[in-house]
Amino acid sequence: MASVLRQCEFRFYEELGDFLPPERRKRSFHHAFDGTPSVKDRIQSLGVPHTEVDLILVDGTPVPFTHRLTGGERVAVYPMFERFDVAETSRLRPRPLREPRFVLDVHLGRLASYLRLLGFDTLYRNDYDDDELTAISRAQRRILLSRDTGLLKRSAVTHGAFLHATDPRRQLREVLDRFQLDARIAPFSRCARCNGAVESLVTDEHDPDRDAPKQDDPGPSPPKERDPDPREHERRDPDEGDPAPSDPGHAPNIRDPDRPQPGKLDPGKLGRRAMHALPPGIDVHAISRCRDCRQVYWPGSHLVRLRQRLAEVGVAI
Ligand SMILES: [Zn+2]
Repeated sequence: MASVLRQCEFRFYEELGDFLPPERRKRSFHHAFDGTPSVKDRIQSLGVPHTEVDLILVDGTPVPFTHRLTGGERVAVYPMFERFDVAETSRLRPRPLREPRFVLDVHLGRLASYLRLLGFDTLYRNDYDDDELTAISRAQRRILLSRDTGLLKRSAVTHGAFLHATDPRRQLREVLDRFQLDARIAPFSRCARCNGAVESLVTDEHDPDRDAPKQDDPGPSPPKERDPDPREHERRDPDEGDPAPSDPGHAPNIRDPDRPQPGKLDPGKLGRRAMHALPPGIDVHAISRCRDCRQVYWPGSHLVRLRQRLAEVGVAI
């Protein structure tokens, strides 16, 4: 006996259209199926990852992903859409995570750098596979960011987001908007290189009168003969083509991993070699260091350009 072919009328709203072929965007279309599949099954088979859907109306009534289609219904599918006035109980997405933390798909290294720069806890490696990404997202309750719809269609991914943009700064804007993060930006509080916490190099404990660094240096001004080339830092900006996406250290930074390390620095105590690497007149209190990888950061001249770039996508640091 032949199975009964049923059909529904689907319409996908706003940016969900990006996942559809052009002829199905911004309009209703008919979709045929066998049996009584879940509405989630049909939505994903049409190309839209479940992570992108916030509200489904079947004949005008909000339904869960598990709702079964029997044929003849009108299905309206809406994305995450903050302005859309809908009862909280109708939304499909799990409650937002209290502390937004991220794990990023491979090839999103520059976005990872930007997110860390703005202080967001962001895991990234360029060799995570899909199983690892899914497991990390689930176990650590991290939002999985990806441009791979197949990855985001996995049921195990409860907190995920597709990035529509390909440009890293546009992606950053997407993430800030979608998760409403602008008010949470804490620039330079996290290591762009390893995601560790960044702390001031000079602590009150070691440097109560803010004079300690001078113990290692004879004068109030550091030596000037070895000013670092600002281009060394500028080329490490996330948007300037990092040659090593997995090692994107780009923020205010006096240490290039390819160069000799400026000595082992203790809080409140800058070594002579480090002083040589710093620009003349730098306030030692503006220098900070990653607790985990010991990367040293400072507000260098490249910061102006970085600020300009971020300002172009509405981010002020
Ligand atoms: Zn670090």
